[in-house]
Amino acid sequence: MRILFVLVFAGFFVCNSCNQQKTDWIDRSKHEGLHNITLSDKFETYATEVQPANLENTIKNLELAKAYFDKIFDENLNFAVLFVDNQNWDKYAFTPPPGMPQAHHEGNIILGINKSVMANGFEQALSQMPPQATQELKKYFGEPINLDKFFRDCLALHELGHLYQFYKTSKSSQRNWLNELFGNLCQVAAAKSFKNQTTFKQMDSYQNLLIRGNQWGELNYKTLQQFENNYFDVLKSGRNYGWYQTQFYTMAKELYSKYGDSLVTKFRTFLIDTDVQKLGELNDVELNEIIKKTFGEDVLSILKWDYPNSSTD
Ligand SMILES: [Zn+2]
Repeated sequence: MRILFVLVFAGFFVCNSCNQQKTDWIDRSKHEGLHNITLSDKFETYATEVQPANLENTIKNLELAKAYFDKIFDENLNFAVLFVDNQNWDKYAFTPPPGMPQAHHEGNIILGINKSVMANGFEQALSQMPPQATQELKKYFGEPINLDKFFRDCLALHELGHLYQFYKTSKSSQRNWLNELFGNLCQVAAAKSFKNQTTFKQMDSYQNLLIRGNQWGELNYKTLQQFENNYFDVLKSGRNYGWYQTQFYTMAKELYSKYGDSLVTKFRTFLIDTDVQKLGELNDVELNEIIKKTFGEDVLSILKWDYPNSSTD
C-alpha cells in the first residue's frame, strides 16, 4: 500500500512538472514588489497599487482577446499583466516612457495606470490641434480626451499578440518590423472580433488622426533598416516609434481586411518557422524569398515600405 502510494505520488509529481514546463513560462521575478490584484480568473494581474482604478475595460478587452487568440492559435495561454505607475516604470519595463505598453519574452505584459506620461504627452499634442480635428475622437475617448484608453485598453491587445508569438519563439527574431507588424495584425484582428466595436473605433480614429494630421515634426528615422539598427533609440522616442506604428497599423488593417484570421495564424507560424535559432540570420534577399513563398506576391506588395533606405544608411 505504501509502495503504491509512493508510486502514485511520484507519477503525479512527474506529470505535474511536465505540465508546468509547458504552461508556466511566466518570469515571476518581474513581479517582485507588486501587489497581486486578482482582477481576472483568466490570467494573472499585478500592480504597483493595491486597488488601481479604471481597469475594468482593460481587463475585459484582455479576456476577450485571450479567448479569440486561444481559438485562432489553438492555445490556452497563461500570462501576467503588470500595471505600473509612472514613478516605478523603469523598475519593471525595459524602456521609457512610462505608459508605453510592452511585452516581455517570458509571459509578462506591462501597462500604465492612472494618467501615464505617454498618454499625457500625446493628449498635449492633441490640444494643439483645431477642435474640429479632434471632434470624432471625443465620441470614443470622452471629453477631455483620455488617451490611456488607447495606450492601455487598445494596445493591450497588441502586447498580448506578442506573447502568443514569444511563447513559441526564441528571443531572437529575424526582424523587429516583422514582430511589430504581427503585433498590429493581432491588435486589429482581436478588436474586430469583439461584438462591441468601440475598441476598434478608438484605435482606428486615433491612428487615422495621427496619419491625417501628420504632425510628427522632424523624425530621425524613417526606413526599415533604421528601425532594425536603432530599435531602442526609436522606442525611447515615443514620437518616432508612434510614426512607425502608424505605418504598421495601416498595413495590418489592409492585410486583415483582405485575408482575415487565416493570415494571422499563418503569420504566427511564419514567425515560429523563421526563428533565428532554427534558420540562422537571414539577409534581406533570403527573407524576401521566404516571405514571397509563404504569403505570395499580393501580400508582398502590401508589405512594400514607402520610405526606402537612402544610400547614406
Ligand atoms: Zn509591438
